[in-house]
Amino acid sequence: MIYKKITSKFKYQMQTAKMRWDKKYTKKTVEAVPNNRCCGCGGCKNVCPVDAITMEEDVCGFLVPRVNQEKCIHCGLCLKKCPVIDKHKETEEKPKVYAVWAPEEIRKKSSSGGMFSLLAEQVLEDEGVVFGAAFNENWEVAHKFIEDSSQLRELQGAKYVQSDIGLSYRQVKQFLMQGRAVLFSGCPCQVAALKSYLGKAYDNLLTVDLVCHGVPSPMVFRKYVEEMYGKENLESFAFRTKEKGYSCTVLQVKLKGKEVCYPSLKDKDPYEKAFHGSYALRKACENCKFALIPRQGDITIGDYWGISDYDKSLSDGKGTSVVLVTSKKGEEIFEKLKDKAQMVQATPLEAATRKNRFGVHVPLPEQREEFLKAVAEEGFLKTAKHYFGD
Ligand SMILES: Cc1cc2nc3c(=O)[nH]c(=O)nc-3n(C[C@H](O)[C@H](O)[C@H](O)COP(=O)(O)OP(=O)(O)OC[C@H]3O[C@@H](n4cnc5c(N)ncnc54)[C@H](O)[C@@H]3O)c2cc1C
Repeated sequence: MIYKKITSKFKYQMQTAKMRWDKKYTKKTVEAVPNNRCCGCGGCKNVCPVDAITMEEDVCGFLVPRVNQEKCIHCGLCLKKCPVIDKHKETEEKPKVYAVWAPEEIRKKSSSGGMFSLLAEQVLEDEGVVFGAAFNENWEVAHKFIEDSSQLRELQGAKYVQSDIGLSYRQVKQFLMQGRAVLFSGCPCQVAALKSYLGKAYDNLLTVDLVCHGVPSPMVFRKYVEEMYGKENLESFAFRTKEKGYSCTVLQVKLKGKEVCYPSLKDKDPYEKAFHGSYALRKACENCKFALIPRQGDITIGDYWGISDYDKSLSDGKGTSVVLVTSKKGEEIFEKLKDKAQMVQATPLEAATRKNRFGVHVPLPEQREEFLKAVAEEGFLKTAKHYFGD
């Protein structure tokens, strides 16, 4: 009798849970997420059990999900696992904050203080796998994984273009299930998407998110490269170089058979203008909830802008990383590797947040969409000239 009561109560609970699920998710797909909220993380594509989702460029050149209705089985997973809807808050509210310099050879190759490479080298040393953003053979930015420190150079350096995540979240899961240590690095929305995709914590996963001002359109960068240099002529491209001092507004471009050049915001490089003027940013970045504290990653890395206001001796003009350690796992690896750094100094959180993006709102120019559509239709250089002058 009691058994019958329990099973019917259980059945009733299951039925109502299913009804709630059906009401919320089924018959709807990720296409129900408004364009201005979709962050292009690719979580939906990774989670789709029948591969009905592809990521395609919208009119502004950002990847957005498209659902093949003939393949779709309306399971609702793409919507349920969308990080914009399903946000994980697993990290600690009050992170520990540090200013860090990696050793000189690393800092030279890194955009900030080289914290990423210290973490990556530690994981590779432990025979783990490291995921991050790299250029592919077409000078597009996409996530990939490396298993050997000889490949680290590809992931080093910030690429100021939204990275195509491809099927990285599935690959991360495969490595985790094999028991490999995995470091996944990316923008905060990508870390949020990975966690949502996985649905549970893995002891062998370390997540590292970047302080992120916002991601520029891949279409804008593609057109810039094609029109300005020709992608077949490019030998190397770096969004930031330290050869001209520590700044985030100087590019380093090497064309085949030519001298290296350093286009900069000061010299009115049009890509620098579009990026730093926020014209090329994704709409969803304007009010990104993943940019907040609590963070998405076990560790957050960025530039320690404003560090000299706190302590001049922590700024030597070669790049200082701001590091937020936000979980026990983050703390463990940080303790393990901190002796390999050239300098580690604890600082108050307030010093880190004063001149950097840890809040939600980044104002975008009113003409942003008009600018991006014009780039798509008329080309980058012509549009940039119209908007920014010579
Ligand atoms: C689009 C974008 C906006 C950013 N905005 C800010 C900001 O406002 N303030 C700030 O302090 N820092 C910002 N950063 C982070 C900063 O530029 C450095 O990437 C970061 O400090 C790491 O520097 P590092 O010296 O430790 O390592 P580096 O070797 O310089 O960086 C390598 C790391 O950056 C990751 N990465 C590079 N490009 C991308 C990309 N397109 N998408 C995802 N991951 C990428 C790699 O996967 C790797 O984890 C931004 C980075 C990006 C890509």
